[in-house]
Amino acid sequence: MSEHNLIFLGAPGAGKGTVSKQVLAKYPLAHISTGDLLRAEVAAGTELGKQADTLMKSGQLVPDEIVAGMVRSRLTKEDTKPGFILDGFPRTVAQAELLNDALKAIGRELKQVVYFKVDDEILLQRLTARQNCRGCDAIYNKLFKPSKVEGICDVCGSQLYQRSDDSLETAKNRLAVFYKQTSPLIEYYEKAGLLLTIEATDSEEIMAELVAALEK
Ligand code: ADP
Ligand code: ZN
Repeated sequence: MSEHNLIFLGAPGAGKGTVSKQVLAKYPLAHISTGDLLRAEVAAGTELGKQADTLMKSGQLVPDEIVAGMVRSRLTKEDTKPGFILDGFPRTVAQAELLNDALKAIGRELKQVVYFKVDDEILLQRLTARQNCRGCDAIYNKLFKPSKVEGICDVCGSQLYQRSDDSLETAKNRLAVFYKQTSPLIEYYEKAGLLLTIEATDSEEIMAELVAALEK
């Protein structure tokens, strides 16, 4: 099996995180979510976390060099050897260029960039109804995927919460940031011959398309 080095590209709420989990259940890949890495820095109260916190709360991007640096060091870890999913990185053309340099330096290549294409209206509904578990990494949605008991995780019984950047105002802002700063990457990776666009709202359908592409 060749390395499955993937990028998941898509607006916030497009399902990158959910589909990542399904892929990880089937393939031994490392999941690299810059959002998760940044939230860990915020929770740990590091300098970097303090800098990122304000930007994240308003839905703006954290500076390119900071996120690229986190990804660079993550890519040196052993668990990335069979392949990795970059979830939410790169988000700007500058980040994509930094990633190219980083991959070249360690002699690795991207296999595919998967673009999750979803209508804005659905994205907003998903984001503002999203609920995360405090105890494990389960994600629910009040409209589309409710927990069995309201506010409680089916898996581990912990309480669910809404991410502070999933409020309507911030969610709208994050979508605007996606179109302005991240969407140029669609053409960028199309030109590089790496883009696979998946137009589906159903995560099982997405998974089927993805597996077909990976096993090619
Ligand atoms: P979503 O994909 O739902 O927006 P993420 O967890 O990927 O959520 O990101 C949350 C926030 O973290 C972003 O709004 C942004 O502030 C910051 N962030 C995550 N990844 C990056 C990145 N590659 N570049 C800059 N900022 C990022
Ligand atoms: Zn849980």
